[in-house]
Amino acid sequence: MPGEYETVIGLEVHVELATKTKIFCGCSTKFGGVVNAHTCPVCTGMPGALPVLNRQVVEYAIAVGLATNCEITRYGRFDRKNYFYPDNPQNYQISQLYLPICRNGFVEIDTESGGQKRIGIHEIHMEEDAGKLIHDEQSGVSLVDYNRSGVPLIEIVSEPDMGSAEEVIAYLEKLRMFIRYLGASDCKLQEGSMRADVNLSVRPVGSRELGMRTEMKNLNSYTSITQAIVLERERQISVIESGGCVVMETRRFDENRGESFAMRSKEDAQDYRYFPEPDLLPLEISQEWIEQVRAKQPEFRPEKMARYKEEYDIPEYDIGILTESRHMADLFEEAAKLSGQPKKVSNWLMGETLRLLKEKNMDPEDIRFSSAHLAALIGLVDRKVINSSVAKEVFAEMFDRDIDPISYVDEKGLKQESDAGAIRTLCEQVIADNPQSVADYRAGKDRAIGFLVGQTMKAAKGKADPGIVNQLLKELLQ
Ligand code: ADP
Ligand code: MG
Ligand code: ZN
Repeated sequence: MPGEYETVIGLEVHVELATKTKIFCGCSTKFGGVVNAHTCPVCTGMPGALPVLNRQVVEYAIAVGLATNCEITRYGRFDRKNYFYPDNPQNYQISQLYLPICRNGFVEIDTESGGQKRIGIHEIHMEEDAGKLIHDEQSGVSLVDYNRSGVPLIEIVSEPDMGSAEEVIAYLEKLRMFIRYLGASDCKLQEGSMRADVNLSVRPVGSRELGMRTEMKNLNSYTSITQAIVLERERQISVIESGGCVVMETRRFDENRGESFAMRSKEDAQDYRYFPEPDLLPLEISQEWIEQVRAKQPEFRPEKMARYKEEYDIPEYDIGILTESRHMADLFEEAAKLSGQPKKVSNWLMGETLRLLKEKNMDPEDIRFSSAHLAALIGLVDRKVINSSVAKEVFAEMFDRDIDPISYVDEKGLKQESDAGAIRTLCEQVIADNPQSVADYRAGKDRAIGFLVGQTMKAAKGKADPGIVNQLLKELLQ
């Protein structure tokens, strides 16, 4: 019976680090350049080329390790993992097998029952990414692009502590939050800057022994992760129920067909003929360096949310969204401080900002306008220099080009007409020009005033306070 089995899951998560240059050479890590433009003798595996370790990679690995409660290995090494594949020009990958930089950590995830669960981190190690094969269907040949070869990765290996797709997603979200807050990666599953391999086995409920596991690769969305977990659990149970044995293998999940296929039998460490990398010195990390990294750790999301609840009178829902991105949270806090109006800042971020981000398919991290300009815009509305519809236009310019709203409003002549005499003249003109609406209003049709307000706003080219216009018209029509 399926209900008598529990699912056991451990994850290997690869994260591409956001360094400017590659892990062992000075080539750019920029995504999407001309093929093979970001290459040199080191990252194309030329004989005699020697690697030099990028310090920033180590620093990011330490920072992620500290965030996930790991011990940092003070004396570490790199190892060669040997295998042949055309996207791997050296015929080996420089990785860490024996002395990974971080070990024995954990993260806490929120469970569905409202509690917390601790997911163990077995280790985090540093390694280099491979190039990319491009299979050209038309000519039937395969081409290779080495721009990604040597891009730094960390691999985060969990303990087999997860029991469902929900827990896996909660775990991935937690890792994503830490890593994005640290600025160590943008962690995009779809674009491959974060990749998760799911190891899964089943066992009878109550059993303490681990079942035989399979490993699933090629999962690039939460939907396919969930689908793959549900299907693989069912597949393994039916193999066992029909008297068979689960085979340890690597399976490839095909998102379109909603099925997984055996790719290869699982290799083990011996297959790779690991040995210590002779071209790199051992890595010694001083306690001082670790402390320097620790001192720079940001306030992470859970602590930030708790503090916002204390400090700001804004809805919990807003707090959740504002703190999803560290950049957005920083903008909020600075603009709230400068303007003294946290709720109004939150409204601009939750409203127009999110709308434009979605429309332009951008990430909150890509927001360009400064907190000072947002605070200045709020000031202009508060002082009634511009009305709220003009403010939206100015904001759109700010969003695109980070213009200074004060000088922009000046230059474009967007200041609201605040001269009551001038507005009154416009109202009188509109009343004279629209006798039918005036008659309607006087006959008790309240809606007619809306039309008159609209006409006056139009005459003022949008630069009047609609409240004042409304009031003046009513006075004049009495
Ligand atoms: P390898 O390096 O050969 O892939 P590891 O022992 O390092 O194997 O484990 C890789 C991942 O598989 C880890 O995240 C671990 O938690 C998970 N794992 C190991 N055994 C099982 C199992 N029986 N069921 C589920 N997950 C497992
Ligand atoms: Mg593995
Ligand atoms: Zn290079």
